[in-house]
Amino acid sequence: MQIPLQQYGALLANYLKPQWGAVVGLTIALLTSIALQIINPQILSYFIDTIFTGGEAQSLPWAALAFSAIALLTQVFSLSATYWGETVAWTATNALRSDLVAHCLQLDLSFHKAHTPGELLERVDGDVNALSRFFSQLVIHVFGNGILLIGILVVLWFENPFAGMSLTLFAGVALSVLLGLRSGAIAPWAEYRQISAEFYGTLGEQIAGREDICANGAVPYVMYRFYALLQHWLPVYHQARFASTVLWFSSVGLFTLGNAIALTLSAYLWQQNAITIGTAYLIFHYTNLLSQPIERIREELEQLQQVEASIYRIRELLSIQPRLKQSVGVPLPSTACAVTFENVYFRYQGQNPDEWTLHNVSFSLPPGQVLGILGRTGSGKSTIARLLLRFYDIQSGEIRLGEGAIAKTCLSQLRQRVGLVTQDVQLFQASVRDNLTFFDPHISDTVILEAMETLLLSPWLKSLPNGLNTQLGAESSGLSAGQAQLLALVRVFLKNPSLVILDEASSRLDPQTEALLERAIDRLLSNRTGIIIAHRLQTLKRADRILILEQGKVVEYGDRQTLLSQSQSQFAQLLNAQTIEHP
Ligand code: ADP
Repeated sequence: MQIPLQQYGALLANYLKPQWGAVVGLTIALLTSIALQIINPQILSYFIDTIFTGGEAQSLPWAALAFSAIALLTQVFSLSATYWGETVAWTATNALRSDLVAHCLQLDLSFHKAHTPGELLERVDGDVNALSRFFSQLVIHVFGNGILLIGILVVLWFENPFAGMSLTLFAGVALSVLLGLRSGAIAPWAEYRQISAEFYGTLGEQIAGREDICANGAVPYVMYRFYALLQHWLPVYHQARFASTVLWFSSVGLFTLGNAIALTLSAYLWQQNAITIGTAYLIFHYTNLLSQPIERIREELEQLQQVEASIYRIRELLSIQPRLKQSVGVPLPSTACAVTFENVYFRYQGQNPDEWTLHNVSFSLPPGQVLGILGRTGSGKSTIARLLLRFYDIQSGEIRLGEGAIAKTCLSQLRQRVGLVTQDVQLFQASVRDNLTFFDPHISDTVILEAMETLLLSPWLKSLPNGLNTQLGAESSGLSAGQAQLLALVRVFLKNPSLVILDEASSRLDPQTEALLERAIDRLLSNRTGIIIAHRLQTLKRADRILILEQGKVVEYGDRQTLLSQSQSQFAQLLNAQTIEHP
């Protein structure tokens, strides 16, 4: 096995340094409990010998007391070792988890599109969990048990060199046999975990899509896939369990053999008067004790292989650099700002190099005006919104907010100044208040209620069962798409942005919610620049300018009234046809 010590060292140093006190406590507790385990049998041996040889009887109670005290102390130190171990492991893994989460959050959308949430969860939690033993115990255990093993063998050599030599040989053979067998169990378990991940992935997908599956009569197919996976799973599980059982069987067999060797040796040496009965007991006891470090070392080395894979994956994730370059650059206006696209070319990562998602897009929207963007699905409307928030950087051209190019502005400031309401509003399983403030306790209820009032949403808030305290369930249950957009409007309003981008809910809204939404949008857009990806005629009435996109190219851009008055304009023709988006 190749052990990348440098990587381990770097990780350990990073996350254990801040809690060196606890690490020292853990080391002392572990090493002391090991030392006590070697010392205690000596007292028992003295006890047995004193009884058999009829020695000083008055010392026996003291020996018994010392034995009990040391046994108790061993437990106390083991307990402290567990306590320190858990503390060190949790502190280190939590620090690593938050580092990974912070890292993932600052990566751009192209990274998140390429990695599923399940995969990231597995990295941030699964892999980090696998490291928990590594941080707390692995190194100390391999060292500690190595010392225990050597300690036992040295004591055995001192008790009787012949016994020492035989049991050293035995320990060597046992350790190499067990380590050799261990590799046989790794592959079946890896395959088992792979199928298990596949199974839960499929299950999750099926539960998420249950409505479509039932509605389209796909249940038999889904069940067929389910059974096929189960059928594949069972034999792999059998194989993995069998490999583990062989390993367990071999270790039990080996240690029974060790006991038999120790018993035969002790009996022979005692018969030859080479050792006392106490020493015979010691040889037997120490041989028994040998199984512990040998098993532990085997286990820890097995763990090390999983740890190695996890460390590799974590380092790989940490080494991904965000594509967007941060800059402190140009400050953004605090009031409504102009939006300019100048010869913008953009394509997503991995897209065909001859194709552009946005092809030479240019327009300029004066401050405080509203732009309505129209186009078929896939024409690039949402991409314009994503670029304005700098989720991606463009390949050529320039996008400006006010006077400043957004490529030169500070990302966090940009996202503070631009508010986005998407079709798919992300709501959390929390109260309406927390959903509005993004869990920011500094935003008071008065501010929220004022915002609601300004957006004319106070009556709607009162209609919720518990007002701001209303709890939203999983998948924002209890709220329609339109209501979720209402919440998102308040959210954006609380940010007080200079530019508001609105990707309208394309699903049909009930007339009441639609009316609420319309009024709230009017209020939100007053004194702000607005960009609306429109799906409804109603919304276009408030647009000052209209942009029509087709396959990433601007086919029409101009003042709404002017376009309306030109009967040959695409906009006028679209309105006549009464359709805005052709799916
Ligand atoms: P619209 O909002 O007009 O429906 P989009 O702006 O979402 O269209 O998408 C424009 C084009 O870019 C589509 O062809 C879409 O398939 C492609 N696209 C969107 N997002 C990505 C992405 N993350 N990676 C690759 N291609 C994408």
